[in-house]
Amino acid sequence: MDGTGLARRLVEETAARAAALTRRTGTVPCLATVLVGDDPASVTYVRMKQNRSAKAGVLSRHVGLPADTSTAELVDTLTALSHDPNVHGILLQHPAGRHIDERAAFEAIAPEKDVDGVTMHSFAAMGFGLPGFASCTPGGIMRLLAAYEVELAGKHAVVVGRSAILGKPVGMLLLGQDATVTYCHSRTANLSAHVREADVVVAAVGVPELIRGADVKPGAVVIDAGYNPGNVGDVEFEAARIRAGLITPVPGGVGPMTIAVLLAQTVDAAERQSAG
Ligand code: NAP
Repeated sequence: MDGTGLARRLVEETAARAAALTRRTGTVPCLATVLVGDDPASVTYVRMKQNRSAKAGVLSRHVGLPADTSTAELVDTLTALSHDPNVHGILLQHPAGRHIDERAAFEAIAPEKDVDGVTMHSFAAMGFGLPGFASCTPGGIMRLLAAYEVELAGKHAVVVGRSAILGKPVGMLLLGQDATVTYCHSRTANLSAHVREADVVVAAVGVPELIRGADVKPGAVVIDAGYNPGNVGDVEFEAARIRAGLITPVPGGVGPMTIAVLLAQTVDAAERQSAG
């Protein structure tokens, strides 16, 4: 499954929508990125998001805060951006620092600007099947499955990983599409036995090649959200590819979709906010 190509098309569509919005209303969609400290990986992620924003016709406003920023100061910054009518989406780069109460910080993001899908409001809306912003990586996975016309109703989906930003929401979204969902995690007994039963496998763990190719059911759809040092996913790719019906590579699968969804959701937010 070609995440790079699909992400490129999504960014192009997003750029066209952004341009149309600007022509119609004068509004230029703006994504504010907030980074606490200067962790090199986080700096790179934020820079990638800013570069892609430009390609999608989205302005980026960066707020860099010192590493010793307190939770209260971070909350004040996010509250101010939530009230700023020229900002349509807000992204707080995770991790914000060990001394920060990240949940309190995320909750300072106004739900209508939560384009990264990190607030309790967004999570609950997804759980209730109500409109709201998806967490970006799960949203990207669902768009990949839709683009490849993967039928989910009645299929057995096995999600390996249950983090709040990835495994848990992707399982909820698959359930929303009528899949029968099994969650596996670090305490699951006999992971292989579960994977062998799966029509759709989503690997969201962060352990290189944890999912053995030999366990993939012939014809299954394999989504590898893992990203480990050395460009290695959570699935034993070469062995899994022979058996899978569809599979995402690492890199070039799920990864590019995440930022593309972030930008698409920023333009959604700008459209809604400029419609009043
Ligand atoms: P996380 O918060 O560390 O969660 C990892 C999950 O995997 C946990 O639920 C954990 O179980 C489970 N797990 C750990 N070891 C396991 C094992 N041996 N067997 C079965 N389950 C196991 O990680 P995350 O943030 O969800 O990220 C997961 C992976 O996705 C990472 O490689 C990350 O880099 C990647 N990722 C990619 C994107 C993207 O844009 N492509 C975005 C986000 C994350 P417990 O709950 O029991 O601890």
